[in-house]
Amino acid sequence: MQAIVYPQPNEFRLQDLPVPSPGPDQVLIRVRSTTICATDFKIFAGQFPGTKFPHIPGHEWSGEVVEVGSRVAHVKPGDRVGVEVHVGCGACPPCLNGLYTLCEHYGDVSRGHAHIGFTVPGGMAECCAVPARAVHRLPDPLDFDEGAFTDNIGVALYAVERGGLRAGEGVAVLGPGAFGLLAVQVARALGAGRIVLVGTRQERLRLGRELGADEVVNAAMAADPVAEVKGLFEGKGPQLVVEFAGTEAAAAEAIQMARRGGRVVLAGATAPGRTLQVDLSLIVRGHLDVHGSLANPKAVSARGLELISRGVVKVKPLITHHFPLEAFGRAWEAFRTREGGAYRVMLHPAGT
Ligand SMILES: [Zn+2]
Ligand SMILES: [Zn+2]
Repeated sequence: MQAIVYPQPNEFRLQDLPVPSPGPDQVLIRVRSTTICATDFKIFAGQFPGTKFPHIPGHEWSGEVVEVGSRVAHVKPGDRVGVEVHVGCGACPPCLNGLYTLCEHYGDVSRGHAHIGFTVPGGMAECCAVPARAVHRLPDPLDFDEGAFTDNIGVALYAVERGGLRAGEGVAVLGPGAFGLLAVQVARALGAGRIVLVGTRQERLRLGRELGADEVVNAAMAADPVAEVKGLFEGKGPQLVVEFAGTEAAAAEAIQMARRGGRVVLAGATAPGRTLQVDLSLIVRGHLDVHGSLANPKAVSARGLELISRGVVKVKPLITHHFPLEAFGRAWEAFRTREGGAYRVMLHPAGT
């Protein structure tokens, strides 16, 4: 089978490899749709601590089950599935609480942990064997491209739920990338009141408006984006702020614009070394709940897929490019340079 391999950091090649055979608790999947995301740049550059080279990347993908291991019962060959990236050991305290993204045996394959496309081979290959616990059967209306959002939709849904959104509340979403635009739609689906999307790229903000944001604020053009957002909520700010912008400045602004007594979910900046500069009285005297949100535990992806299948969350507008696997280099450049307004660039390792 053909696969994209990073032999060492900052290098890739298309390589012919034997098709993996699934272990007793694994499924072998023929990969139909797999996207490139910004995290792939970190993995490629060797900045992700758990990744060992040579490495097959790919962590946002879907396909059909080809073969199942002897102990696998919940899926069968022919099933169409989407893949959730984090698989915990299943036995440590966080895993037992459903927080398998916080597994205490991260990276330990012998204990059953897998971070697909990060610590174990991923879906930028014609076939990929993964723990059966990672896969969700795709609801019938979903195609493989939509199924490739299995992980992304879980991340967005979890962040909004972590913020405890209640129907009718005002929401600000910072960062109009794929996660931000999914968060806007999830908030709308969960009954949010006014939704304001904040970003710096006009075309992305425009798409956000089409997908459910009532107002947009261009932080690059506004003299004081925090004041502008607060002004859209009677000067008090939204009850919930969800940050997917991934910068220190946006995290600080998220806290500054939240309504007193409100909630802030910081989900964008996941790399170590980022620090927050913020007036602590905003949190303490503002009585804010400030949450960190890491990825998508608690099988939230399965519920997210349901939202996509019902059409209340649309992912197709986020897919801007399609390439075969052998055009990986071109796909990478299209995504890196945001060619033609690239959002999610889709590769099709085993054809469409
Ligand atoms: Zn990703
Ligand atoms: Zn665990």
